[in-house]
Amino acid sequence: MTDAPPITPATTPVGFIGLGIMGASMAGHILAAGYPLHVYNRSPDKARALLDAGATWHDSVASLTRACDVVITIVGYPADVEQVYFGGAAGPEAAIVANLKPGAVAIDMTTSSPSLAERIATVVAERGAAALDAPVSGGDVGAREATLAIMVGGDQDAYDRVLPVLRTMGKTIVRLGPAGAGQHTKMVNQTVIAGTIMGVAEALAYAKAAGLDQAQVLQVIGGGAAGGFQLNVLGTRMVQGDFAPGFYVHHFLKDMGIAAAEAEGMGLDLQVLPLARRQYHRFAEEEGGREDGTQGIYKMVVKGVG
Ligand code: NAP
Repeated sequence: MTDAPPITPATTPVGFIGLGIMGASMAGHILAAGYPLHVYNRSPDKARALLDAGATWHDSVASLTRACDVVITIVGYPADVEQVYFGGAAGPEAAIVANLKPGAVAIDMTTSSPSLAERIATVVAERGAAALDAPVSGGDVGAREATLAIMVGGDQDAYDRVLPVLRTMGKTIVRLGPAGAGQHTKMVNQTVIAGTIMGVAEALAYAKAAGLDQAQVLQVIGGGAAGGFQLNVLGTRMVQGDFAPGFYVHHFLKDMGIAAAEAEGMGLDLQVLPLARRQYHRFAEEEGGREDGTQGIYKMVVKGVG
């Protein structure tokens, strides 16, 4: 990998698979930075704006991978990551691993499992290429504004090479160790968020019950020690009754499931993460909240506050 040419907009075609809430914005920044951008998504309509801006469409993961020196994925679940890397029922020839060019770098930015990231890195390295796990934090806003935090695991040389591409999408970018370290760090992040978002929903229910103006409460405490994305951005959406997905409840449940399994595997006896997971599970199954944004939990928490 050390002899591989540098990655520049003039020389490096970049492929992007997964053009949802996060991916569409992130891919747009790569294109705007001047890289030839190649795209594929399960639902082709989501590529329309990028194609109008100059991106090239591929009908398959295999065709995109053969055309690119950097291949980025941000799909939904670990099962989707398995599908695009290994092919699933479509067979390996349809997927990334079998089609990567020697010296190419594949970057999975999906929130997925650390062990899957390790497996991908191992098989990709055997083919003379490299794979990094690089999940993100910062939400739909961070994706739109190119201010994401990007937590990377994998080979140092590959990381150094792709840093210019990552910098088009994020502001805080750190390599934390070998393959899987990025996903483990994302699980740390989701553990913080699990407790925090429940706290925000309960705090705003308290404000309502106490007869306070919730917007004013947010204005003042959002500027103090409690401030942060969960309170300032998602708390505002709660108060405004905006429950549209920036981050889907079903994806958050997936993340908490991965984090809980990893924590249990390490012998940790966490209390708050399982509690938040149970509450979100109830919200998804009993209150129809699966497709809401995570701020939707407020509707369940505030029930009964007059
Ligand atoms: P999303 O809107 O559902 O986007 C996922 C995209 O991937 C969809 O366009 C989907 O295609 C495509 N896709 C899924 N499986 C595929 C497959 N097998 N082959 C090809 N394309 C496939 O979700 P998102 O909010 O962008 O989140 C994406 C990932 O980032 C998730 O792992 C999530 O947990 C993580 N994440 C999200 C946020 C956030 O705030 N939204 C923040 C950090 C991390 P279709 O269009 O056909 O559904």
